[in-house]
Amino acid sequence: MLLTALCAVVRDTVVVAAEEAAKAAPAVKPAPVVQPGAVDFIDTSFENASPLWYEFAADGTVMVNLNYDHQRSSLNRAAGHFHFRLQAPKGRRVTLEFVNLKNVWNNTPGSVGKEIKQVVVSQDGRNWTPVPTESPEDGRVRVTLEMPGESLFVARAEPYRLSDLNRLLEEIKSNPLVQVTPIGKTVQGRQIEILRVGRDSAPKTIFIRARAHPWEPAGNWVVEGLVRRLLKGDALAEKCLAQYRVCILPMANKDGVERGGTRFNLGGKDLNREWDKPADPQLAPENAALERWLEAEIQAGRRPALALDLHNDGNGLLHLSRPEGPEGEKHLARMLAFEKSLRAHTWFTEGSSKPSFRNPGSLGEGWFARYGVDAAILEFNCNYIAGLKEPAMGRGWLAFGGGLAEAFAAVTQ
Ligand SMILES: [Zn+2]
Repeated sequence: MLLTALCAVVRDTVVVAAEEAAKAAPAVKPAPVVQPGAVDFIDTSFENASPLWYEFAADGTVMVNLNYDHQRSSLNRAAGHFHFRLQAPKGRRVTLEFVNLKNVWNNTPGSVGKEIKQVVVSQDGRNWTPVPTESPEDGRVRVTLEMPGESLFVARAEPYRLSDLNRLLEEIKSNPLVQVTPIGKTVQGRQIEILRVGRDSAPKTIFIRARAHPWEPAGNWVVEGLVRRLLKGDALAEKCLAQYRVCILPMANKDGVERGGTRFNLGGKDLNREWDKPADPQLAPENAALERWLEAEIQAGRRPALALDLHNDGNGLLHLSRPEGPEGEKHLARMLAFEKSLRAHTWFTEGSSKPSFRNPGSLGEGWFARYGVDAAILEFNCNYIAGLKEPAMGRGWLAFGGGLAEAFAAVTQ
């Protein structure tokens, strides 16, 4: 009762004060009409969309501020994945500039801007077209697009989402040559699995991991191309599967892919680092699960003859390890034979890393040192496929996967 009365007094006092202020004040100019920006909205509500914020420069350019993801106990940070949907009137020319490309790698700052030579765009999120970017100065990346309708998806590279993987697994899982085995969970509890194609009785095993780094979709396109080639049911597929089976961890960093991350897992770990020691089961459960699987396979007498970890970067290269000693030399000779086979059976032309190159803690170095497995990192240029003389797109990576079936056959005879 008392409180109600008090409120009434306060309200009356406020109203009277406001009325008097209005009488005393000069005429207020109407607020300026807010000019719409070059886009009405940037939608990031969907699977694999990148977290970002944006603002408009004076000339109307949309400044797209990407979010970094961070490595634990480190200065390292990474941005560079982008995938979003522009909403603007049909026919509008929209210039985008990407901001926050100042990554830190191995505790050294370096812009990822020079690696972004194209974006891909799509009206339906399925059919993508490459568009070259411009770089008015070092580290700056701009692209101008014309809205073909009221909505346009824009991405760093042709997306391959968790739902795309699930669709593939659903399609092939009843094939007797296919086995999908859950091996553990990501930090956020998503199930990760090994996809085996072939027979456990095959004399050799090839292991492939894709998508340790979420922004890098090529690995998933390559895996799909390889799996489809091996399941074709023709003479070549049968020849390959008589020699080897493939065991694939198709999407190691599912959390990052789903959430539109760039590099690290949600524990702040780089899944292509620290392979020189056992993985932390809490912070890097994706690697701990893979390690348990690998150790069980070795125990069962099925040590992989070759392991490939698939990535994207701005160059494309087969990253070979060069361990010291006679075993290291034999390993290198086998890997160079594999490089030759890649050149013969796929569009691969990029070559391999120089003798001075080291990539400590990567799966390539760690698996040979700890498990005696011939392992390498295979990077795919995210902009251009020199061997096909065309922009890097999903179809080129699918074709590479198809050729990989024969490239493996040549080294498992
Ligand atoms: Zn990578």
